[in-house]
Amino acid sequence: MKQHYLGSVSFFRHIILLTLFLIVLIPVILTSHLSQRVSALENKINVLTLSNPEKSSETPQPNVVSNKKIAYLTFDDGPSVITEEILDILRAKKVKATFFVVHHNDTKTVDRLKRMVNEGHAIGLHSYTHDYKKIYSSAKAFIDDIDKLNVYIKECTGYETKILRFPGGSNSCHLPKNLFKQIKTELDKRGYVYFDWNASSGDSVSSSKLKTENILTNCYSRVLQHNAAIILMHDTSIKKKAVVEALPILIDCLIGDGYTFSTLTPETPQVIFRK
Ligand SMILES: [Zn+2]
Repeated sequence: MKQHYLGSVSFFRHIILLTLFLIVLIPVILTSHLSQRVSALENKINVLTLSNPEKSSETPQPNVVSNKKIAYLTFDDGPSVITEEILDILRAKKVKATFFVVHHNDTKTVDRLKRMVNEGHAIGLHSYTHDYKKIYSSAKAFIDDIDKLNVYIKECTGYETKILRFPGGSNSCHLPKNLFKQIKTELDKRGYVYFDWNASSGDSVSSSKLKTENILTNCYSRVLQHNAAIILMHDTSIKKKAVVEALPILIDCLIGDGYTFSTLTPETPQVIFRK
């Protein structure tokens, strides 16, 4: 008589063999997966620790005489399509940053600006147009441009700012020395304080050349040279995904090195290329 497979000795033998097989196989798969993760993390750490601190091309600035290590993350040129991702990372890491913004004709710009404000980040003026030819044609053109941006930010968010970053930095090759002096006089009258940076992430290179590892090595080694580090990053384009990939690793490394994070205010000691 034909015996049913279910309930037969063979059936139970197969069940036992299958169970033994799984007991052996699952730990092997997990171990292999974990060792891959560990080796990826070791590689990241090697990239960061083996790199020689590169001499910053920026003019060294005196920092506050303090042992307290503080990092100011600053993002220029936003809001953009990567703003939400940047804000998500900052929220997850409980870190505040400063956004030097530009006017964009994008329906999401207002929401992005509002979210920056609502989540406790600082907004600074960068430029309404970011058009070097226009803004650096006269002191009046520059002041008109930033006044227009200031009104726009205030209308969108209710936020008032007194901090500013010159497009291209205060020593921009588009900004002649005499014009800089005239603009600075006008900024002083209006109580604006400008900031450059002492730790560039080097993320303004073309997107094809932009690698997460390069941002990390550039930025990390430069930050470590300063107790008060103003980090320059850009909030610009979907092509600059490397910025988003590097940001959480950079934050973790700096926290590990004893840095705290803060936003820029008019009272923050300035880091400037030109006085
Ligand atoms: Zn810019």
